[in-house]
Amino acid sequence: MNIILIGAPGSGKGTQASLLAKEYSIEHISTGDLLRNEVQLGTEVGVLAKVVMDSGGLVGDDIILRMIKDKVLSDSCKGGFILDGFPRSLSQAEGLDKILIGVNRKINKVFNFVVEDEVIIKRIAGRYFCKKCGTVYNRYFNPSCRDGEYCKCGSLEFDSRSDDNEQTVKNRLLLFKEYSDPLVEYYKKKLLLVSVDALKNPSLIFEDIKLIITNLN
Ligand code: AMP
Repeated sequence: MNIILIGAPGSGKGTQASLLAKEYSIEHISTGDLLRNEVQLGTEVGVLAKVVMDSGGLVGDDIILRMIKDKVLSDSCKGGFILDGFPRSLSQAEGLDKILIGVNRKINKVFNFVVEDEVIIKRIAGRYFCKKCGTVYNRYFNPSCRDGEYCKCGSLEFDSRSDDNEQTVKNRLLLFKEYSDPLVEYYKKKLLLVSVDALKNPSLIFEDIKLIITNLN
């Protein structure tokens, strides 16, 4: 089973992708995570990507499609995969189709996470995480214990992504709007698209998605 989750940054795709990957024992591929890993390792790709990511722009298709191809064709994806944060544009969707056709595989469903801008900005600009255990919190919706004093693991040290600030979020949202309509249309025409109300409680969203996946078989 191969699934795509599309939606604005902060729409909750990442949370659902992790839950679904665990539920169905399939690989969770987040291009954002793959790029952050390159940045951390200080690779050539990482150095190039960091500048773009910090400005809220989109990393070039050549880099992204190469990373996706390596990952999708690797053994870890033999049982299926969930794409989170990719494709972000029509050209990436077409590039993905070429990769999949080459190995006689296809996308089974595309879930489109729909949510308003104001919520997105608060979700992203308020996001921070525990440096020790990685638990993600939100200053507005889900603060750590005693209003950000300490994490449930006891740690007092928190951090946030360098691109999770209000200005970068606005750029990321603008780009998302520019590229998402053709992408949504592309998958609608292929009869693969399902809309998800991303304002709903994450556990309810998870149940809705599972029901649709069950009916795929
Ligand atoms: P994310 O973790 O999905 O919010 O991605 C963080 C940043 O990584 C984005 O703002 C982009 O700069 C870059 N990025 C992630 N996925 C892609 C993609 N599919 N195409 C281009 N850039 C990407």
